[in-house]
Amino acid sequence: MDTEQVDKVIKKAGCAFCAGNCGVLVEVKDGKVSRITGNKEHALTLGNVCERVGYGSKWLYHPDQLMRPLKRAGGRGEGKWEEVDWDQALDEIAGKLGDIREKYGPESLVVTEGTYRSGMFWMRSRFLNLFGNPQNVAHAGVICFLNCYAINMAMLGGCCSLAANIGRSNCTVVWGQNPYSSFPRTMASIKRRKEDENYKIIVIDPRQTETTDIADIWLQPRPGTDTALAMGWLNVIINEELYDKEFVEKWTFGFEQLKERVQEYTPAKVAGICRVDQDKIIAAARMYATSKPACIVRGVAVDQIGRNAARVEQSRVILRAITGNLDVRGGDLIPDVGPEVDGNLFRREVVLELDDKLPAEKKPKQIGADVFKVMGWQAYGLTSEPYEKLTGQPEPVGHRLAASPPLTWRAILTEKPYPVKAMITWGSNPLMWAANTKLVYEAMKSKNLELHVVMDFWKTPTAELADFILPVSSWMERPLCSTFEDLTDVVFGGERAVQPLGERKDDYAIWRELGVRLGQEEYWPWEKIEDAIQYQLEPLGMTYEEFTDDGYIRGGREYKKYEKNGFPTATGKVELYSTVFEKLGYDPLSYYEEPPESPVSTPEVAKDYPLILNTGGRFMPMFHSEHRQLGIGMRERHPDPLTDIHPETAKSLGISEGDWVYIETRRGRIKQKARLNPGILLDVVNVEASWWFPEMDGAEPSLHGLWESNANVLTLDDPESCDPLTGGWCNRALLCRVYKV
Ligand code: SF4
Repeated sequence: MDTEQVDKVIKKAGCAFCAGNCGVLVEVKDGKVSRITGNKEHALTLGNVCERVGYGSKWLYHPDQLMRPLKRAGGRGEGKWEEVDWDQALDEIAGKLGDIREKYGPESLVVTEGTYRSGMFWMRSRFLNLFGNPQNVAHAGVICFLNCYAINMAMLGGCCSLAANIGRSNCTVVWGQNPYSSFPRTMASIKRRKEDENYKIIVIDPRQTETTDIADIWLQPRPGTDTALAMGWLNVIINEELYDKEFVEKWTFGFEQLKERVQEYTPAKVAGICRVDQDKIIAAARMYATSKPACIVRGVAVDQIGRNAARVEQSRVILRAITGNLDVRGGDLIPDVGPEVDGNLFRREVVLELDDKLPAEKKPKQIGADVFKVMGWQAYGLTSEPYEKLTGQPEPVGHRLAASPPLTWRAILTEKPYPVKAMITWGSNPLMWAANTKLVYEAMKSKNLELHVVMDFWKTPTAELADFILPVSSWMERPLCSTFEDLTDVVFGGERAVQPLGERKDDYAIWRELGVRLGQEEYWPWEKIEDAIQYQLEPLGMTYEEFTDDGYIRGGREYKKYEKNGFPTATGKVELYSTVFEKLGYDPLSYYEEPPESPVSTPEVAKDYPLILNTGGRFMPMFHSEHRQLGIGMRERHPDPLTDIHPETAKSLGISEGDWVYIETRRGRIKQKARLNPGILLDVVNVEASWWFPEMDGAEPSLHGLWESNANVLTLDDPESCDPLTGGWCNRALLCRVYKV
């Protein structure tokens, strides 16, 4: 037996290069990750992985990965840092947080977060609750599913927007997503199902993609008009009586009001709004309603259209409900309250968050809760009461609440409604994901912000403006235990493949050590994250080792759970007419509203900015603002930021393939490379998001090329342009012009 074989071990980990948590096998040779492949024995993810895992080893051992805590040694953005030890960093941070809490109140701290990944968000909530903070988490999720989750909870007391049962459906609608790039596992399911010639796919996307290429019907609406399209489908389905009469009768509330409302959305009118052929709209609606069971896969695209975003999801929930596709085999499943084994329930994140420790008078202080009410504690109160009554369990909190990011930046700058003095940026890069980069930058540079701590792997543009950067361990260096913050009734697990590199610490260790320094010691009994996971597993009688070896826990699948006790809403039914929205002062029924900046709503702007700007879409092998470092292979595969433009439009502007072009809105200008795409609408351009350049100077004015190609220099976050229910801002359906550099 050779030594190489002796030193090689295979670890079963959970990938977190995106939110998928695919089960992977990490080969560790001589203590170092050497190769990562899909774990075919993982019963939930079946060995499906995307190309990102192939870069894992080079990513982990890249020389720019941070290994020690850094403290700012010059002005913010001067690029001067000193290495400090953990005790010094955590003592100073905790000391400052304590002073700020004393002087300005616990609400003066904000946590910012990016895409859901780490799997263990309860530790952040636990820290904040014990700190007395009203969950001021300024979350990118406001335009990436958290909004949908809140809408679902309001309408049916569960979430039907996450688990489309593609493998057993006869028709799948893919709405505003290209799973090839954003969720490869979904694409794999669609392709497997596609082998059956009776299976139908409908795709709604203004841009031709790998998914539109396999569609039976591809609808290409004008960006931002999705609610009109959905209401048009409802018009057809209701007026042609294609809905499930028994389900509607027994299990929905407000059908007559809905029926009246959808009369405003005739196929002819909708065709005009969306610029889609009327017959195609009717054909798609009929196909969806009659190919039972059917499911709808949602992407984040329409979460990002501003004022009308929540109404798209409201309309989609109505479509699923009235066609009888809710919680049926092959339809849109509603996860149970958590995995249960032999009647014992896994301890979910909500159990660990300690929401009961947050004083009630603090809750209304959550930033934006009085404006974007569906994401706040008041709405949570309305949904959690029937939820708890029916299920006997607390309603998960994590995905229900978010502070408004646009209002957070403004609060830092204006000290209104109260001073925000400290920010912890946790695995996040708001200078890339948040709209209106200039404002975010001003907030981060503001003297009003007395403490900014970034937890990350790299010196990102956001980290360059911090006071401390704390190096965190990646998914290969820590275990995984994820219920997606209680979104699902399965738990994804994985073991540590290698010990943290350098002096990196895992997220749990950092939150705990900060908490202990702030007087929370009695509430952090588990010394390490493995012990906390063991506590979650305890009711199931399962060990940590058994859990990570399986890689998942899944309870039994039950369909049509509502038939037992109804839906956990105030009416016990799916609320097509939402009593929650009504109580919060919103229109209880869905309706269409033009995007805040469009050829129709702002024709005077369109004269100077004639093209429709879309941004925020994902592309391989990047994930949001990650993977731009040279030397890993991902950047080499996709070296430059690309803007898709129709060849005819490009020709009229004197632009050729590969030309650098400026993209300009009323808010700013960036440059990217033109990619001619005959599959995009003539007046639409698609601009890649989140571009920064780690190889460029990290100090100001460059900040790793922050202002060069970053699409959020162009986007809009005025509060009045945001979705009034959830606060989602505009990455899409804006107006721009494009010209050659
Ligand atoms: S889709 Fe790719 S990046 Fe995402 S979890 Fe799976 S393997 Fe990792």
